[in-house]
Amino acid sequence: MKILMVTAEYAPLAKAGGLGDMVAALAGALSARGHEVKVVLPLYGDIDRERHALAPCPGLPAFAVRRGGAVRRCRFWRADGATGPDVLLLENDELFGRPGIYGYAEVSEFADTLPRLALLAQGALEAAVMLDWAPDVVHVHDAAAALAAVDLACWSRAGTPLAATRTVLTIHNLAHQSHHPRWEFPGLDLPTRLAWHPGEMEFHGGLNLMKAGILLSDRVNTVSPTYAREVTADEELGCGLAGVLRDRGEAFSGILNGMDREAWDPATDRCLPANYSQRAPAGKAVCRTALLRELGLEEGGPLLASVGRLAGQKGLDLLLPLVPSLVGDGWRLAVLGTGEPALEQALHAAAAAHPGRVAFAARFDEALSRRFYAGADAFAMPSRFEPCGLAQLYALRYGTPPVVRRTGGLADTVTDAAEPGGDGFVFDEATPEAFGAALGRAIEAWREPGRWSSLARRGMAADYGWDVPAAAYEELYRSLEGS
Ligand code: ADP
Repeated sequence: MKILMVTAEYAPLAKAGGLGDMVAALAGALSARGHEVKVVLPLYGDIDRERHALAPCPGLPAFAVRRGGAVRRCRFWRADGATGPDVLLLENDELFGRPGIYGYAEVSEFADTLPRLALLAQGALEAAVMLDWAPDVVHVHDAAAALAAVDLACWSRAGTPLAATRTVLTIHNLAHQSHHPRWEFPGLDLPTRLAWHPGEMEFHGGLNLMKAGILLSDRVNTVSPTYAREVTADEELGCGLAGVLRDRGEAFSGILNGMDREAWDPATDRCLPANYSQRAPAGKAVCRTALLRELGLEEGGPLLASVGRLAGQKGLDLLLPLVPSLVGDGWRLAVLGTGEPALEQALHAAAAAHPGRVAFAARFDEALSRRFYAGADAFAMPSRFEPCGLAQLYALRYGTPPVVRRTGGLADTVTDAAEPGGDGFVFDEATPEAFGAALGRAIEAWREPGRWSSLARRGMAADYGWDVPAAAYEELYRSLEGS
């Protein structure tokens, strides 16, 4: 099949979280299965063109995109990959030339977000037209790319290579819907009815790109079966769109993400001071000692690590009140993350109050994240909600049993130690008490080295590769044929 992916993130070129990893891995897996895959993302100002061997596409001339009275000059760049997906980066200095994917800091969104997303959508469709390439499916990822499906649904495309193209929207996080004021609507050149009740894009008097994507894409899915159930059943997790998703009925489904088992493999990971595997686990202890030293932590009990965005979703505020008692029990804590200033401050304060016991690295650093997954004994992911979550999959793969809340993709990927095949610790209530009780069970298990290493081994053996999810996406695309 011919598949055109539209996305704001694509690892390693542009990544803010799991979305970038997922799109790159899915595109790679589909391409390896013989499909023709093209990916379009913006050429952000902070993408290192030399390091990624990017060059302007010889086959695609510069072109102008007209929309809402604006004319924007664009050009496509291409990542130099002889194999795998064809990755096209859309250049437009005015809208994409600055650094940042969504905003300057995680807390502030760019004021011209809507024109940026409109250009991404239109540029992606334009690429297919200019290449005279007829995709079977345009697969858009999250609200940031949803406009490509909306454009396809609303614009006339007879006589173009997109005439028979169908659309799939994958929701990676329903909490980020891309809301905009209605006065921006004329800039989109879309039919006015969309913006007024009961129009597909209208949402409480404003615009909602996710809602329009959900209603106007041929198929919609999210990234785990449990999250798919939760967002239709629970109004809070549905973030105002539970009913809209329910209305899509069978057209909405959940497909669990995989992880790139080659890119994330402790046996070959070049960022680690020592490599190891399930059969030869000795290197993990070397990674642990090195990480403790790197973070200025003293030897003691188990090292509990967390890697992730510092946002309410991730539930790290549930950890903060537990810090004194965890340290008292012998735990060492290490957090890598950036995000909400209040959480950053609280973590800095916890590290200052417990020198040698608690460490906080307030930055985005993929190499360090790999040393965290490898060097830690246990991994904390007390998310309030979690569409899929990749961090816990990396922790499992690196032999670091995760302690997680039973929600979304965490519920679908981690089995509690008390159950057959257990590879981590699972708790239900989003409270420090419930999280603390799970950590209590974890430290007890850690004190029995035989028990702990069999937990870790089972996690390392768990197969969350891309074969199964890629086949599920193929099936989803095929369900559109002739429909
Ligand atoms: P989300 O997509 O909600 O942020 P996921 O668990 O799906 O959560 O994916 C998060 C990804 O981002 C993982 O690859 C994780 O290692 C990475 N990540 C998050 N924060 C950081 C950070 N501060 N430094 C390095 N990597 C990070």
